[in-house]
Amino acid sequence: MTKKSTPKTKKQINEAARRKKKRKRAFRKAMDVTAAVLIFGLFGAAVAYPLATGMISINPMTGQETLGTVKETDENGEFIFETTEATTETFYETVTIDNKDIYKGELILVNADYPFESAADANILTLFEEKTDSYSVSGMDVGMQEAAVEPLNNMLDDFYSETGHNDILVIDAFRTLEKQQELYDADLERTGLDTSTLVALPGHSEHESGYALDFSLFFPDGSSGDYDGTGDYNWIDEHCADYGFILRYPADKTEITKIQYEAWHYRYVGKPHAYYIMQSGICLEEYIDQLKEHTIESPLEIVDSDGSAYAVYYVPAETDKTVTYAPLLADHPYTISGNNADGFIITADLQEKRELVSYTKPVEEVTGITTDEYGNVVTSKTSDAVSSSTTTTTVYAVG
Ligand SMILES: [Zn+2]
Repeated sequence: MTKKSTPKTKKQINEAARRKKKRKRAFRKAMDVTAAVLIFGLFGAAVAYPLATGMISINPMTGQETLGTVKETDENGEFIFETTEATTETFYETVTIDNKDIYKGELILVNADYPFESAADANILTLFEEKTDSYSVSGMDVGMQEAAVEPLNNMLDDFYSETGHNDILVIDAFRTLEKQQELYDADLERTGLDTSTLVALPGHSEHESGYALDFSLFFPDGSSGDYDGTGDYNWIDEHCADYGFILRYPADKTEITKIQYEAWHYRYVGKPHAYYIMQSGICLEEYIDQLKEHTIESPLEIVDSDGSAYAVYYVPAETDKTVTYAPLLADHPYTISGNNADGFIITADLQEKRELVSYTKPVEEVTGITTDEYGNVVTSKTSDAVSSSTTTTTVYAVG
């Protein structure tokens, strides 16, 4: 068959263009269906993982031409696409995140540099109503973020069954800005100083987020004591990460946290983050910093104490817009948290079990006891000097 090579009329050219457009439309329609299926799958996952809901809206309009879609050009420079089979392997979904959500979530970093900017009250539960019999609370109004309540109950139930102690008292957890101001003023009055290294500046305490709590001790005979995390209570430091909690102000990180060693102050960040932070001996500031090196292409893979594998990565906020389009691994349940500074941390559940990984870094050689400006030992957490620095501290004055 010979090919006609007569010059095309204007009508023929228009007709060819129309057919081409039609093919493109048909292709887009097919892609929309694919995207819709994937989006439906992700939506289902989001429902199954309530932490992911409420802060995520999915924009189906951005679904089909996101990162990871395999593209090729034909001889005319037009984009042609690989088959569906080929693209699904590398298909990334996107979610649209409201940039206000930078200030929400389990991984928000609240410190002297980053104030708490959100309103926590909506998700605060009263521990008195939610707690188990394994511990007590200092008042009817002690509250925590909903996400942290069940992990706290589980941790202290297990602590009780392992050690026989049911004398832990949650003396303080969620605080309003006003309450933080009161504590701050009281500490300045106590010390006569202009600033406090013990109580965080009002607006800058993670207690205001509802993700932090302070332990004290309340014994059956009605007496009380300070919680110093030693002896049987060291079980908490050894296992808190299994429940998503970290010791927030370690003795060897005070130069970074700007808060002195607080044996009693724990922060909920969720698994697997707590496991990685506690195992590798870093503080939350360092973790949030490290995550900035991890994109969806090179995530931080964490295997937690159950052997569950996660991919964790950072997505900078598109600050010139009101929303950020964040890439997701298709078909994996995920949670999103703001970092309270400039972006989002996405945790994808890889839904597979792996062998346990040790993130423990080699212990630095202790060349002698040195203390920082807060009077804390910076080379060893377990030294006597640390304990003695905490025994004189009242549990009311806290980060
Ligand atoms: Zn505290």
